[in-house]
Amino acid sequence: MRFQTVASTLLLSGGLLASAAVAQNVAPDTDSGPASVPKKPVMFDLSSIDKTADPCTDFYQYACGNWMKNNPIPPSEVRWGSFNSLSERNNYLLYQDLKAAADAPKTPLQKKYGDYFAACMNTDLADKLGAKPIQPELATIAAFDDKKGIAKLDLDLEEKYGGGALIGVGVGQDQKDSSQQILQTGQGGLSLPDRDYYLSDDDRMKTIREQYVAHVTKMFVLLGDTQDEAAKEAADVMRIETALAKGSMSRVQMRNPANRYHIMTISQVQELTPDFSWKTYLDGLGLSQAESLNVSSPGFLKTVNEQIEAEPLPALKAYMRWHVLHSSAPFLSQPFVDENFDFFNKTLSGQKEIQPRWKRCTRLTDAALGEAVGQDWVKQNFPPQAKDNMEKLVAALKVALAQDIQQLPWMSEDTKKQAELKLAAFRQKIGYPEHWRDYSKLEVSRTDFILDLEHAEIFERERNLKKLGKPVDETEWGMTPPTVNAYYNPPQNDINFPAGILQPPFYDVTKDPAVNFGGIGVVIGHEMTHGFDDQGSKYGPTGNVKYNADGSLGSWFTPEDQKKFNERTKCVSDEYGSFEVAPGQKQNGDLTLGENTADNGGIRIAYQALQEVLAKQGVTDLDGKQDVIDGYTPAQRFFLAFGQVWCENRTEQYSRIAAKTDPHSAGHWRTDGTVQNFDAFGKAFGCKVGQPMMPEKSCRVW
Ligand SMILES: [Zn+2]
Repeated sequence: MRFQTVASTLLLSGGLLASAAVAQNVAPDTDSGPASVPKKPVMFDLSSIDKTADPCTDFYQYACGNWMKNNPIPPSEVRWGSFNSLSERNNYLLYQDLKAAADAPKTPLQKKYGDYFAACMNTDLADKLGAKPIQPELATIAAFDDKKGIAKLDLDLEEKYGGGALIGVGVGQDQKDSSQQILQTGQGGLSLPDRDYYLSDDDRMKTIREQYVAHVTKMFVLLGDTQDEAAKEAADVMRIETALAKGSMSRVQMRNPANRYHIMTISQVQELTPDFSWKTYLDGLGLSQAESLNVSSPGFLKTVNEQIEAEPLPALKAYMRWHVLHSSAPFLSQPFVDENFDFFNKTLSGQKEIQPRWKRCTRLTDAALGEAVGQDWVKQNFPPQAKDNMEKLVAALKVALAQDIQQLPWMSEDTKKQAELKLAAFRQKIGYPEHWRDYSKLEVSRTDFILDLEHAEIFERERNLKKLGKPVDETEWGMTPPTVNAYYNPPQNDINFPAGILQPPFYDVTKDPAVNFGGIGVVIGHEMTHGFDDQGSKYGPTGNVKYNADGSLGSWFTPEDQKKFNERTKCVSDEYGSFEVAPGQKQNGDLTLGENTADNGGIRIAYQALQEVLAKQGVTDLDGKQDVIDGYTPAQRFFLAFGQVWCENRTEQYSRIAAKTDPHSAGHWRTDGTVQNFDAFGKAFGCKVGQPMMPEKSCRVW
């Protein structure tokens, strides 16, 4: 229920679907450790290509056809892609550090993350304790006997256990003045992946809802409630979550910064939620000085208050108990772990087996203590040379984007000037932070993992709330060093590339420039273009969203150019909205617009940058037969390297979840949708106008 971050990422990360998985070339591993070191992934893999496919009809099938055939989804995964073997390897190397630190720590920091990992790995203890680790929290809820005290209960849960029951706050940058850090509150409180899961009339969704209620019932029974009590509580949970879903904005609505910006004084928020004492809550958090906050979803807060009024006390308590139980279930004894896996992973996402414990614990330790573990990890896995190389690549892409803006056929000189100002103000962070986070205040127990999780939550919340009213720390990172991902952060106008991604299949120093520009080059271009997508383009060079004098959302585009931009993004959204990801399930063109726009511009500027680099080496024709390697011209190698980053297999269930929740298109459509909008592709593969990958009408934004 915390405020939403607005950063745009390259890949989906976090939550239910985060994945660090088993490579196919690895022997089956045990719960306590992997059987062998995962091999380094191969960049530009000729054996992945399906030569029986026509690149002009379905380029993804051509670039990835054999890869898909040879890399079925491992039973412990729901999505398996070419870069999973990279995250797999990073995760394994991290695991080695964690295990060594757990067995024989050499520094206090190693002792800390070693203990965290060891506590997570201790399944014998977890099994012995059953649901005991969450009893204190459940007792706090059980003692709650007057709805008037709900703010105090919310506060107690946050302070002692790190998790808010109904309403939560966080500190983030003010979108009108990004130099200010302000208090914010968002929406949340749902257990299923999206509000549609509660509200859609689709038969499939109705079935999932029935299965969900059955699951909640079983979990309450495991906790010791009778079947009848449990069934009643499950009905309460479903009713309250459904009401919260109705009061929430959709993911598409939340994409528009204007929709999530409503500054209110504390007394205005108090009027909106008369049954929740903001004074009690904020005073308790040490935030008495706060005079106002951004209520990103006023409809949601209003609904929370309606629920406090309408629902009987036992129903509200059932809802809160459920959220304690649900969030802790993966770390309790085996029956809880199994039942939670059975519904959320197996039924909902199509995952056949649970991931080995060591993988889950490695990821959890990285999530809680990433900048502690990362310090040792980068020493071994990120040579200074890699950072230098990346800086050169980013510089080349910046030049290409500046040229691209200059050459844009549809934009006026006035708007181009503004775009150039924004580009000039771009900052970049590569590899890992300049200053590591100080974890000295985080307490870690080697024998109580639930307590460790709670302490990590409390540590993060306190770190976040301390930012209120302070200057923005521009050196702060939103991802840990071994992460295979990248992001653009609009209020800071910066692009960020963790050390983890600067490896094959994205980057390989031994490969020719065409391959590297098709891989990491497009990734850099993608992140830069996020600054100019449907969301990023609303933020100016200093990270502020422009507002008109009357308070309406403004723009740094001229009105005429804004109209043209909207027409062009509509072209992209219509195109991707026509792609089918599972039988009867289309991609949501509005939800994925920012990512598709970033791919649309990213590939073009990476290609331009490659042209510049090769021209300096005397190569002026990227389609020239004299520069063929492995049977492919530089242009063909560029597009193949790009396409092969997105080789993947997904379970049907996962495809359906992603269509509702993931702002990124599926690999198939990221590849085909991107190349069919870029004429250099058709030229590279000799396609004819009218073939699927070279349509008569294509979409270009940047
Ligand atoms: Zn992105």
